[in-house]
Amino acid sequence: MTNAQAAKFGEWCQGALGLEDWRIEIVLQDDPPAWVQDDGRSVGACASVRSYKTAHIWVSPQRSRDEGTDQFAVLAHEVLHAAACDTGIESDGRAPTDSNEFLWNRLGDILAAAYKARVKV
Ligand SMILES: [Zn+2]
Repeated sequence: MTNAQAAKFGEWCQGALGLEDWRIEIVLQDDPPAWVQDDGRSVGACASVRSYKTAHIWVSPQRSRDEGTDQFAVLAHEVLHAAACDTGIESDGRAPTDSNEFLWNRLGDILAAAYKARVKV
């Protein structure tokens, strides 16, 4: 996934999830940014504040490839975290043992597939 693809898909996800008026910064890089509490295995992360309608999202292309995970699905997963912040159903665990993360993964897969069915990537 290129930065341009990430930006375009991120905007699409924002529209799909009612976050059009949010400012979401997406960083594609293999090393996690300083704000990420890295466990060495995460493929992405999201830090968001609903009251400020802002989110920072990180996706690691290399770790996604290593895990066999679609980067679009990872990005969608992280945007879903932003959409769900302050709902009390966020989680920092890992799928499949963490049921919330499992849900975000499935919904992320669905969003990525819906996008790819409509937009050539
Ligand atoms: Zn997650």
